[in-house]
Amino acid sequence: MSRTLPTRCRRWLDAIALYVDGDLEADLCRALEAHLRQCPDCRLLVDTTRQTLYLYRAASRYPVDLPPDVHRRLFARLPGVGGTRSAAARPNSEAQA
Ligand SMILES: [Zn+2]
Repeated sequence: MSRTLPTRCRRWLDAIALYVDGDLEADLCRALEAHLRQCPDCRLLVDTTRQTLYLYRAASRYPVDLPPDVHRRLFARLPGVGGTRSAAARPNSEAQA
């Protein structure tokens, strides 16, 4: 997915963000919807933005509270996430069972 949005669509980016949020003013909303009818790229962008927003809101409504040891083990297995760079290089004495 290295495609970029066509130049003619870039001006709609801000409008799409507002549109998905329901904050786009009526005139612009009609203009954007007219564009969406003939532009699959922007329709895809609207869908993706909606889904992302939905997931983000769902996630913030139901925060997952992992037990500390599960959290530590999970993040220990995710390279580059949390922890320190040298954590993988040295024996993890805490995790020894
Ligand atoms: Zn477009």
